Amino acid sequence: MNHFAQKYAEGFMSELIARNPGETEFHQAVKEVLESVAPYIAENPHLIDLKVLERIAEPERIVIFRVPWTDDCGCVHINRGFRVQCNSALGPYKGGIRFHASVNLSIMKFLAFEQTFKNSLTTLPMGGAKGGSDFNPRGKSDAEVMRFCQSFMTELYRHIGQDTDVPAGDIGVGGQEIGYLFGQYKRLRNEFTGTLTGKGQAWGGSLLRPEATGYGLCYFAEQMLGTRGKSFEGQTVLVSGSGNVAQYAAQKAMRLGAKVVTMSDSDGFIYDPDGLDEEKWAFIFELKNIRRGRIKEYATKYPSATYLPGERPWRIPCDIALPCATQNEIEKQDAENLVKGGCYCVAEGANMPSTPEAIDIIQGAGMLYSPGKASNAGGVATSGLEMTQNSIRQHWTAEEVDAQLRRIMSDIHTACVKYGTLEDGRVDYVKGANLAAFIKVAGAMLDQGIV
Ligand code: NDP
Repeated sequence: MNHFAQKYAEGFMSELIARNPGETEFHQAVKEVLESVAPYIAENPHLIDLKVLERIAEPERIVIFRVPWTDDCGCVHINRGFRVQCNSALGPYKGGIRFHASVNLSIMKFLAFEQTFKNSLTTLPMGGAKGGSDFNPRGKSDAEVMRFCQSFMTELYRHIGQDTDVPAGDIGVGGQEIGYLFGQYKRLRNEFTGTLTGKGQAWGGSLLRPEATGYGLCYFAEQMLGTRGKSFEGQTVLVSGSGNVAQYAAQKAMRLGAKVVTMSDSDGFIYDPDGLDEEKWAFIFELKNIRRGRIKEYATKYPSATYLPGERPWRIPCDIALPCATQNEIEKQDAENLVKGGCYCVAEGANMPSTPEAIDIIQGAGMLYSPGKASNAGGVATSGLEMTQNSIRQHWTAEEVDAQLRRIMSDIHTACVKYGTLEDGRVDYVKGANLAAFIKVAGAMLDQGIV
């Protein structure tokens, strides 16, 4: 970065931190983009005059609301609901809803900011948003989850719509929660429209939407591996998480010939040196999606596996790591362990799972590394395909959706290579993804004036 770009970036960051004190995840997400795009902005000073990045980093709208609900014993609880509508330059706001105890404004803003760039990369007409609540679904009965979703939607419905803002799932919000949210939206609005994605297949959901983030991640990783003449075949893979993204990333990696040896949750991870197979995968699917159980039960069921409580998978030797749980789950020491264990490719399924220090180590070691906004964009892309199917009142086959998903992931890879190829021929996927996404959003914002 030259001196002028460096000065611009420093000034930008100090102002952002002063305006948004304490929002560390948001600062982290913006800084990463800033480092990629500052040289481009410095070469195009009208972007500085028109404060384009400053506007992207200031959400168009933030809604924070009370979500009261009653548990099965009749006790009243209050949670906080959020919807951060970050940027609508490219289309209606689009982004998931997260229910997790850790949810706060900083996390919502980082996710909405990331989503704006991710949605731009998909090539589909979608702006960026994110929402959620600090509601913790763990240990709640189905009836409690339903009442919470209904209360949450009783406020959210005013701010969303098929041409305004189209939410989907994220951590803690799967098909069941989308069903309850959709049911309440339909009741309040008296309309059956595609205002949420990730719906059930009988009522407007796209085939392959549940699989899309994990499958898309593997399609993207395949392209990365291809740049080094490799593939998933015969590779040892670490997966973290055991939710939606992790499950389908593990399934696709396995079907592409890899040996998936770990899965995790927030209590610990399982290590199975024999690798998953279809039967073991089906056990995990049933455990997590039907019984809402914990990953440690895998080690009870399969003696080949060990459960390691309170730990993350990254010290296990591997070729490829697919972090699919949550933000900042690969820290400096974890990255060092990955290098030590022979890992040569980290493709992110979760949003911002690697800390900046970890990314420095991973990239410094010459590993292939893709940021979540590029490699996990298959989920929102397929949500975009669900929106199209809802609008034209058609239902595409799984093969049609899969072909589109593969094409989109391949196009994102091409964009990363175009904007991120370094002088020595290596691809900086962070730079490529950020720059490709920024140029598109900035162009649309310039066309639309100061709004
Ligand atoms: P799920 O709720 O289905 O699964 C989340 C998984 O991550 C669970 O195994 C959970 O364990 C674990 N986890 C959550 N928080 C933590 C934590 N603080 N520490 C360790 N483990 C944790 O969510 P998804 O699979 O949908 O989402 C996973 C990641 O992928 C998130 O970063 C999300 O933003 C991102 N993503 C999701 C998309 C989607 O389509 N669903 C699209 C693009 C990105 P536990 O059960 O113990 O909480």
